[in-house]
Amino acid sequence: MHDPAELRTLHLERFHAEPAVFAAPGRVNLIGEHTDYAEGFVMPAAINFATLAGISPNTSGKIAIYSENYREERSFDAAALPVKPSGHWSDYPMGVAHVLAGEGHRIPGFSLSLWGDVPLGSGLSSSAAVEVATALAVESLIGTSYPGPVLARLCQRAENQFVGASSGIMDQFISIHGQENHALLLDCRDLSSKLAPIPDEVALVIANTMVKHSVAGGDYPTRRREAEAACAVIARHRPEVKFLRDATLADLERWGHEMEPKSLMRARHIVSENLRTVAAADALLRGDLEELGRLMAEAHWSYSRDFEASCVEADAMVELAADLPGLIGARLTGGGFGGCTVNLVEQTEAETFAQKLGERYTARMGIVPEIHICHASGGAHRVA
Ligand code: ADP
Ligand code: MG
Repeated sequence: MHDPAELRTLHLERFHAEPAVFAAPGRVNLIGEHTDYAEGFVMPAAINFATLAGISPNTSGKIAIYSENYREERSFDAAALPVKPSGHWSDYPMGVAHVLAGEGHRIPGFSLSLWGDVPLGSGLSSSAAVEVATALAVESLIGTSYPGPVLARLCQRAENQFVGASSGIMDQFISIHGQENHALLLDCRDLSSKLAPIPDEVALVIANTMVKHSVAGGDYPTRRREAEAACAVIARHRPEVKFLRDATLADLERWGHEMEPKSLMRARHIVSENLRTVAAADALLRGDLEELGRLMAEAHWSYSRDFEASCVEADAMVELAADLPGLIGARLTGGGFGGCTVNLVEQTEAETFAQKLGERYTARMGIVPEIHICHASGGAHRVA
């Protein structure tokens, strides 16, 4: 995380007012991919990369937002908030303002500065970090404080309805509820959650394939539609199946022949992934890292072969990690089609692991990857 004192200085110089500063982390999903919108399970951890938001009220009636990442400032009329996105980074913080206004809050003029070290657009959810940091900042300004799960839903709405990206609830939820040295098993149906300890001697090594994912692109909605079509087939026979969360592998055996082949494959991934995710949380709670690693490998190849959401580079990153000393488990994390792999690695081997994996990947793909050694961190908070 960047030094909050530097954000304060930056805010003071630009806006001539003392900011209240908030931090919200990015995240890595250990297992449970494309299960969130099927009302299933995910198991992310917040990481030690975060977005900082500094806020101060002003009397100009303007909302001024500066991002140090983009070195750019935008200004809006607080009395006439934009109702549509502009395709600009400011859509994320303005989406939050828009949603809070929709909840009946009067949004006054304010100055907001943003500065994050969550890599942008790499699948580590800089978007949720910026939304949650902004939401805490604006909440402090208007004197309100939503319970965590409600705030997560509001931030998700900012991303879904304002920005126009169809993502699930996981990113915002873990950015708010992350705990140091823990992963969090989240039931996306009722937002109940359970912490699962990540032992001290385990590092989260995040390897960026440097292939850009895009959740706004066509592949994510296509996969989602295909999966939902499979669910509709099962629901014809078992009306109580509202989401793939309610379906079983036996349902797929029985009615799979009525589905498009691709729909069956997508559903097989989601139904089996839900089972793996719950099993992975149990494995962590028991301290059975070997089982966790096995489940992660199975999850990766299900994601790659049945869900077809991997790519040559991500498959290579997982394969090249497999026999490196210290590896517990590796898989592609995030929405798919590029982005990062997450590797659980024995802490003592993490540096060597990262270096060797980088060399191997560069030799095979001709791309120099960014590799970060992270640990599971706490959720969003006000910085003293
Ligand atoms: P990811 O969430 O995986 O990083 P997204 O495409 O969902 O990728 O979100 C990235 C977008 O979020 C950026 O392109 C930018 O518009 C916005 N964003 C993230 N962090 C910041 C920041 N510090 N300042 C301004 N905009 C940001
Ligand atoms: Mg995102």
